[in-house]
Amino acid sequence: MFKFLELLTANQDELARELSREHGKTHADALGEVARGMEVVEFACGIPQLLKGEFSRNVGSAVDSIADRQPLGVVAGITPFNFPAMVPMWMYPIAIACGNTFVLKPSERDPSAPMMAWELFREAGLPAGVLNVVHGDKEVVDAILDHPNIKAVSFVGSTPIAEYVYQRGTKAGKRVQALGGAKNHMVVMPDADMDQAVDALMGAAYGSAGERCMAISVAVPVGEETADKLVAALKPRVEALKIGPSTDDSAEMGPLVTKQAQERVKSYIDQGVASGADLVVDGRTFSLQGYENGYFVGGTLFDRVTPDMSIYQDEIFGPVLSVVRQKSFDEAVDLIHNHQYGNGTAIFTRDGDTARTFADRIEIGMVGINVPIPVPVAYHSFGGWKRSLFGDHSIYGPEGVHFYTRLKTVTQRWPNGIKSGAVFTFRVDPCSANPPPQQPWSTMSASA
Ligand code: NAD
Repeated sequence: MFKFLELLTANQDELARELSREHGKTHADALGEVARGMEVVEFACGIPQLLKGEFSRNVGSAVDSIADRQPLGVVAGITPFNFPAMVPMWMYPIAIACGNTFVLKPSERDPSAPMMAWELFREAGLPAGVLNVVHGDKEVVDAILDHPNIKAVSFVGSTPIAEYVYQRGTKAGKRVQALGGAKNHMVVMPDADMDQAVDALMGAAYGSAGERCMAISVAVPVGEETADKLVAALKPRVEALKIGPSTDDSAEMGPLVTKQAQERVKSYIDQGVASGADLVVDGRTFSLQGYENGYFVGGTLFDRVTPDMSIYQDEIFGPVLSVVRQKSFDEAVDLIHNHQYGNGTAIFTRDGDTARTFADRIEIGMVGINVPIPVPVAYHSFGGWKRSLFGDHSIYGPEGVHFYTRLKTVTQRWPNGIKSGAVFTFRVDPCSANPPPQQPWSTMSASA
């Protein structure tokens, strides 16, 4: 695992370039993705700390108890297109460090980065068969879900598929964690630092062209004055977004992953207009000279979006930010509660009481206080609530270790001269009335 980390460090630029070539995200963004994946590999290097189990001496006379976490056997992971290097690394380094073998089914849309990482792991000395990569789509996924030798499945992707994978996998008796889609809201309170909030929204809504499960796709300014200020500050910034191919180092965002994704996002913008939202910046007509056939959509900003609109209800997964104006903090919290997804959220405020109340009350798995994309670091765990996660465990970090292991508890006694006879009552300590004979070491220490 240490050697794998070394090879990833030496090859991260090449890995990021390969990833961008297929995905379209900027090189800087791809480098960031690879780095976040490597943090999980680093975490896996320290796995003994989390596998060492628990031990209790003398739970009964001369009886000890050992709780041990053991691997499941063969486990599998199915991953989405949007983080082709990082999301597989949320899974297999931990699963393998815990003692399992792993079958990875990466996205068919950008499978090269996970293949490169697999080659580096092999070069690091991983024995054949420990990490296996299989390619395909539904047919391969179904084969994994139905295979009797596969004991657990990690899935990351859209909610309909996550729910399907969870249902089919658990029906086949497997442990399943299935992470789904999102609609992440960012509340902007009247006391927020507006410059900081606008900078945060630009990166969180338009970075990676909005193709992130932790992207902010809904801004919720509290009060009309806050909303007016926010929209006025966002408009020129969205219009000035620097959009280009992944090879352009000055680009702030790239194209979408496929033509279908581009058409889907444009059709949502059409729906937003048809349902009466204010289209402040329209990205549908964006075209880049020399790249006229690229799958670009320009940064798009809607104001006065209401909860009944499809652009609010659905995950668009593109560079489209909706502003939903709310009158009060309570209204903003209710809005977030009533959404089907519960992946991430953020609040921008200078008031500690408001921030703390928000973090306590909000029904969302990952919360940012003046942090727009609160993706937990590798030694915490990542996971949403509601329809953003099916299953009982979040992914990576300590939760990952629990997911890929099962608990075994050993209660042990060795012949030591104590005769308890046959015991017919349900007790751990049937011979506490008889003191144990003197141990050889106690005699030794007395004579010493
Ligand atoms: P997707 O659901 O289309 O695909 C994910 C995986 O499922 C792929 O490997 C794909 O081959 C497979 N798949 C697709 N259709 C299938 C079917 N009918 N039956 C069985 N398997 C099928 O997702 P995507 O478009 O690759 O990725 C984007 C989605 O992933 C977004 O919804 C995004 O929010 C989500 N996502 C979530 C997280 C998270 O941590 N919650 C992280 C990244 C992405």
